Amino acid sequence: MHRTLEPFKTRTATALVDATLKIAIERTTATAERKRAAALSDFPEFDAARDRGRRIKDHVIANLDHYLVEFERNAKAAGTHVHWAATADAAARIVIELCRAAQAKRVTRVKSMLGEEIGLPHALAEAGIERVETDLAEHIVQLGGDTPSHIIWPSMHRTREQVSEMFRKAHKTPHEEETIEAMVESARRELRDKFLSADVAISGANFLVADTGATCTVTNEGNAELTTTPPRVHIVTAGIEKLVPSTAHAFAMLRLLVRSATGGDITQYTTFHCGPKGPSDRDGPEEFHIVLVDNGRSRMLTEGLKDMLRCIRCGACMNHCVVYRQLGGHAYGGVYPGPMGAVLTPVFDGLEKARDLPHACTLNGRCQEVCPVDIPLPTLLPG
Ligand code: SF4
Repeated sequence: MHRTLEPFKTRTATALVDATLKIAIERTTATAERKRAAALSDFPEFDAARDRGRRIKDHVIANLDHYLVEFERNAKAAGTHVHWAATADAAARIVIELCRAAQAKRVTRVKSMLGEEIGLPHALAEAGIERVETDLAEHIVQLGGDTPSHIIWPSMHRTREQVSEMFRKAHKTPHEEETIEAMVESARRELRDKFLSADVAISGANFLVADTGATCTVTNEGNAELTTTPPRVHIVTAGIEKLVPSTAHAFAMLRLLVRSATGGDITQYTTFHCGPKGPSDRDGPEEFHIVLVDNGRSRMLTEGLKDMLRCIRCGACMNHCVVYRQLGGHAYGGVYPGPMGAVLTPVFDGLEKARDLPHACTLNGRCQEVCPVDIPLPTLLPG
C-alpha cells in the first residue's frame, strides 16, 4: 500500500530517484497529452461544450437538494434501493452489510475511485470477502498490492515489462509471447470465471441521471457490463456531485469527459443502469442498490470549494502537470493525486495530512487551462 504516513519530502525524494517510475509516467502522460490535443483539434466546438458543461454542473450544484430528491424518487420507482451515507465509513459499512445479506463470498468490482475513497478494498478484506478487480489496470494494481496512482490509468506507475513479470508469476496460464495483446489475453483468461461466479457486483458511476434514476458508466474494456450483469446483486457507490438533470445532459458531459480523459470521441462502452432486471429481461441483477455518498461534499459547498464539485474525474489536470509528471501519483499521499488531489485530499484526509501539497504546485495554471469544466485549481489549494 502506498498511502503511508511518510513525510511528503520523503515520498517525493523516493519518487524522484526511481528511474523505472519516470519511464512509466512519461509513456502514459505524454501519450495522453498527445491524444487529447488531437481530439480537441477535431472538435472545434470544445470551448462552447466546455462552457455548457460548466453551466450544467453549476446549475446542479446550486440545486443539489432538488436533484437528489428527484433522483431518489425516480430510482426507487425503477425498483432501486437507495442508501445515503454521510461519511466514508458509513458508505463502506452499508456496502459490507449488503454483501453479508447476499451471503457474498466473492465480489467483482469495476474501477471506482469512490470505492478507494471510502476504503472499500480494506473493508471487504476485513469482512473476509474476496474482491476481484476487473478493470485491467486495477487487476495490475491488485496483483502488485498497490493503490491507484492515476484516476484513469490506475497502474500507470508500472511499465509493461513489470506487468509481464507480474502476470507470469500470478496467472494460471500466463502469456507466452511478449506482446501487449498476449498479456491482455492472459488477464482475460484469468478473470473470465470470476466474472461468472461472483455473488455481488460493485461499481461506481460516472453520472447519476436525475429524471430517470439511472446511473451511467463508461469503460473501454466492457468489464463494467461483464461485472454488473451476472451477479444477483449490483451495488453502485457514487458521490452526490455526480448528478446531471437528464440523459441529454449526461451525453453533453460525456463529450467533454472522453476527449479530456483518453482523447477518444466516445468510449467503447457507455451503459445506463436503471433498477433491477424486469420480468421480461433475460439477465441483470435481481437487486439493485445505490449508495449516495456525501463524505465532505456538502461541506465543500460552504467552505469555498464549490467549484471543485464540478470535477468529472477526467485526469487531464494530472497529465498536464509538470510536478505530477515528475512524481507520479503515490507521492501525493491521498486517494486522488495530482492537482485535483491536492485540492481534495484536505477534504477527505484532513488539512494536517495535506499541509505540504501546495508545494507540489508551480502555479503555472496549466491544470485549469485543460480542465474540461474550468476548475480554478491553483486558487483552491489549501493556504
Ligand atoms: S479537476 Fe478538471 S481536469 Fe482535473 S480531473 Fe477534475 S475535471 Fe478533470
